[in-house]
Amino acid sequence: MMNISKRLERLKIKLIELKKEMPLEINEVIDYFLKHMTLNYEKVLWILSLNEENLKEKIYKVADIVNKTLNTDIVTLKGVIEFSNYCKKSCYYCGIRVQNDIIKRYRIPIDEIFEIAKNGVESGLTTIILQSGEDDFYSDDDLEKLIFRIHHELKTAVSISIGERSKEAYKRFRNAGASKVLLKHEAINRKIFEDVHPDKDYDLRIELLDYLVELGYITGSGNIIGLPGQTLEDIAKDIIFMKEHNIKMIGMGPFISTHNTPLENLENGSAELTLNAYAATRLTIPFAQMPATTALGTIDRNYQFKALNCGCNVIMVNLTPDEYRENYNIYDEKIKVDLLGTAQRILDMGLKIPPYTLRNLFIKEAQYGFSNERL
Ligand code: SF4
Repeated sequence: MMNISKRLERLKIKLIELKKEMPLEINEVIDYFLKHMTLNYEKVLWILSLNEENLKEKIYKVADIVNKTLNTDIVTLKGVIEFSNYCKKSCYYCGIRVQNDIIKRYRIPIDEIFEIAKNGVESGLTTIILQSGEDDFYSDDDLEKLIFRIHHELKTAVSISIGERSKEAYKRFRNAGASKVLLKHEAINRKIFEDVHPDKDYDLRIELLDYLVELGYITGSGNIIGLPGQTLEDIAKDIIFMKEHNIKMIGMGPFISTHNTPLENLENGSAELTLNAYAATRLTIPFAQMPATTALGTIDRNYQFKALNCGCNVIMVNLTPDEYRENYNIYDEKIKVDLLGTAQRILDMGLKIPPYTLRNLFIKEAQYGFSNERL
């Protein structure tokens, strides 16, 4: 892969060329980006507010060029194992909140989690994400050993998405081999955050997030688009917050109303606005890993793939066995993002997946129709 200065040079040439076909307003964004390699709050807000189809497509194109020139046109596939749907918290939007007594709860035994991870790595995935509700059933010791085994025995990157564990626990997990962590801030507007998080853990969340960055994790965060009372200004502030706090992985998904939760009657967040947010974020935090989220795919699968041409460069595929997965309903109708189907569709779009992933998929699923030419 080209070094960063070469990629930046190439990007500059492409954007200057692109300006010839862009209207004045878009060129103002490009000029700002070329000068600062990021956007400010006003520019982010302007992109979020775009409604006109023509302008939206143009800004998506700018974000796409920035992403694919700086980060390549390879879409990274990461495997998620949702190992427990128990949670002690009560977030108003979430289907596995502790008060939801109509869902069937499960916990996957540690050895089984390892076997699922092994299968994911053999299928070509290079990052395993361990995700769960906030579930103290698994001790810090349990998780530390599991992370160590997955990282060292399977020689793969481990990402954790398990909520607000103690600082000490996160330090142990980091030493055990976890290199990435996801802790969404959900909303940087305190009132919006506290209106949907009855334990009002806003300060703790931000403090922990900063600590994770300090510990050397590649730290992920993100927001929900469409929370009650949220304005475009709030979303712009979410994006600027992530820039200022050195967030390197960004998960932004639309709110999806979920039955038997306090927000079950709220309208879903906008898929269109989510795409605008992806484009704005790519231009604000150009090197970020940014998944085209499952939440967006749940609203409209086509939008999830379209997002790969609007600045997103990651898709998370689901490794959770079906018997468990159907009960990991953090929101209603959560889709299953399967590895093979997703890889196939990415290739059909003319995009690439990492050679290691493609090779292993080819070996494992030769009958699925992947071509040697793509290796
Ligand atoms: S959003 Fe996370 S912490 Fe909140 S209830 Fe759901 S699983 Fe638990």
